[in-house]
Amino acid sequence: MLYSYAMDKKLIDESKKYLMNTYNRAPIVLRKGRGMKVWDSTGKEYLDFVGGVAVNCLGHCHPKVVIALQKQAQRLIHVSNLYHIEPQIRLGKLLVENSFADRVFFCNSGAEAIEAAIKLARKYAKENVAPNKYEIITAQGSFHGRTLAALSATGQEKFHKGFEPLVPGFRYVPFNDADAVRKAITAETCAIMLEPIQGEGGVRAPSDNYLKEVRRICDENRLLLVLDEVQTGMGRTGKLFAYEHFGIQPDIMALAKGLGGGVPIGALLAREHVAASFQPGSHASTFGGNPLACASAIATVETLLEDGFMLDHCRRIGQYFKDCLEKLKKDYSSYIIEVRGAGLMLGMEMTKAGDPIVESCARTGILINCTSGNVLRFTPPLIVTEKEIDHLIDALEEILGR
Ligand SMILES: *Cc1c(COP(=O)(O)O)cnc(C)c1O
Repeated sequence: MLYSYAMDKKLIDESKKYLMNTYNRAPIVLRKGRGMKVWDSTGKEYLDFVGGVAVNCLGHCHPKVVIALQKQAQRLIHVSNLYHIEPQIRLGKLLVENSFADRVFFCNSGAEAIEAAIKLARKYAKENVAPNKYEIITAQGSFHGRTLAALSATGQEKFHKGFEPLVPGFRYVPFNDADAVRKAITAETCAIMLEPIQGEGGVRAPSDNYLKEVRRICDENRLLLVLDEVQTGMGRTGKLFAYEHFGIQPDIMALAKGLGGGVPIGALLAREHVAASFQPGSHASTFGGNPLACASAIATVETLLEDGFMLDHCRRIGQYFKDCLEKLKKDYSSYIIEVRGAGLMLGMEMTKAGDPIVESCARTGILINCTSGNVLRFTPPLIVTEKEIDHLIDALEEILGR
């Protein structure tokens, strides 16, 4: 047995029996959460530095989110988009007033927001630039989701294997190389789609000028800039949206993960003239902009923006966290290659596979994640404190020192 503490064997066996084997799950059944903490079905407590992989931005069961969900559940849970939906309108307004965008389309996940972005970019370019436009340039090491077009946009072969033929129309270039983007443009290119900071691909931030260069390339060639802010959005990097760090604005942006404070919701944002290519019949989603999901997202976004406190905290505590990791790197330079990221989206590239460290952390009651095989990833709720970070650093120090 890998884990030394009590396991809920019966439940885990049933999980393995009845569910498709799509995840390498730790042998932990999480049952309850409050703030930074979660508890498993045996009563063991954990500090959660995964935060549902950048989803639980306000922590677990934030009272504002819980109350908004309770109130909305009593009033109206679902109606279709055949009608106007109050919380959807309020959330749309909130996102427009706090971003580059003029209009919003709601869906249910990151992959769905990306699908919508691909459709909108193609339709806009065909109608407004040239009818042969459809190709989208994306980055190697990118991650855009698991549905077929989002998967095809993803610049990592390991995710493609077994699912070919892929959706045509994507061209991959090295990340953080503006010249490569320029060279990849063809007569068919309609857009460039990037994560401002790559998440699944190993928490990779570009150099300061990269996105500015790409923005310029888009403007010079009548291409749309699509940003996948599914992971970097909603305050994760210390600004509401990561593009704000780079002095640029996209034409289209995909959101999901943190948007609903834990409830599934995705969104596609766009400027007016681009959004105009979606007309009745162009695109739709049964659950998109569902009242319950939108009520949760309104509570989440309002709390994120209240007095700027949460974003300030994220920037300050994120820097503290990064400094701690840098210090750890100095002390354990034979294990740690690099510390990367912004705000509370941090990665630490190790010289060895990260999974054993993730497991050791879980045993001591701390949840962390590993991506790209050897990059420890930290995406805790934005409410994380110095004390909790110190606790994680102590644990990592103890584990690496063994
Ligand atoms: C998680 C993620 C997605 C996919 O989101 P799902 O909700 O899992 O479909 C897409 N893009 C990025 C950058 C992500 O991190």
